[in-house]
Amino acid sequence: MFIVDFHVHPITLKEVSEKDEKLLENVRRVFGLLPMVQPTSTLIQSLEAADVDKTVLLPIDCETTHGCSLPSNRIIAQVVDQYPDRFIGFASVDPNKGDLALEELDRSVKGLKLKGLKLYPSLQNFYPNDQKIYPLYDLVEKLNIPILFHSGTSWASGKDKFNNVMFLDDVASDFPKMNIVIGHLGWPRIWETVSLAIKYDNVFIDLSGLPSGLGLPKEHFDLVFSMIPKQLLERCLIDKLIFGSDFPRADVSRMASALRQLSLPKDVEDKIFGDNAAKILGLK
Ligand SMILES: [Zn+2]
Repeated sequence: MFIVDFHVHPITLKEVSEKDEKLLENVRRVFGLLPMVQPTSTLIQSLEAADVDKTVLLPIDCETTHGCSLPSNRIIAQVVDQYPDRFIGFASVDPNKGDLALEELDRSVKGLKLKGLKLYPSLQNFYPNDQKIYPLYDLVEKLNIPILFHSGTSWASGKDKFNNVMFLDDVASDFPKMNIVIGHLGWPRIWETVSLAIKYDNVFIDLSGLPSGLGLPKEHFDLVFSMIPKQLLERCLIDKLIFGSDFPRADVSRMASALRQLSLPKDVEDKIFGDNAAKILGLK
C-alpha cells in the first residue's frame, strides 16, 4: 500500500529550530505547545514504522498577526532538499500582505519547488471567502497547486469563526480548477464538510488531528467514522478522504494504526491512505 501523511508540521524538529532560533518560543506562544525537540531522523523512523512513503511538510506564515512564520518557506525547502524522497513541502503565505503574498507564493513554487499552499484562517485572521484574498486563489489556480485550509476547531490562538468550513462553499464554486483540501474534517461541522466534498469535484477532506478532543487516535477515529454512514463513505466519499497525522499534535504511527483498526474495505483504505493524496499531489 502506498501511504501519504498529508499533514505534518515540522516545528519541533531539531534541525528546523537550529535554523530559526525564535521558532520554539513562537510555537509555545502561538500554538500553546511545549515543544519536545527531536531530530528529523526520529520523525523519519516513526514514519517508517508506520509504513508512510511520502510526507507533506506544512509551514504557517502568520507574520502580520503573530510576527512569525512557523517555520519559513525557505526552511521547509531546506528540509525537503535533505530528504527529497521522503518529504513534499508546501508553502504558506500571509494573505494580509496582498501583492507581497503573491510574490512569495510565486517564488516558493517556482524557486523553492514547494508543491502546495497552506492557509490557517484563525491564525491569519481572514475569512476564506473575502474578495481581498481572491487574487491569491487566482495565482494558486494558475500555478496548478493544491490548497490546504486549516478548518474547524483550532487549539492554537485565534478565533475558530474564521475556520468555518462553509466559507469554502464560495471558494470552491468560484475556483473550480483549484483543488481544495479541508483540514481536520472541518470539525465539528462534519456534515457540511462532507456535503461540500460530495458537491464539488475539487473539494477533499483531510482526516488529520484529534479535533474532537478525544486524546486517543483510536477513540477519535471510531467517533468520526461512526458519524459517516457506510454507504456515503463507500459510494460518495471514497475518492475524497485523505490520511494525515497533524504531527506533532498527534503521533504518526498511532494515527495510522487507528485508521487500520477500522477495518475499512481494502479499496477504501488504499485510497484514504495514499491514492487520493497521490492524485492531488500529482505523484501518480
Ligand atoms: Zn495544520
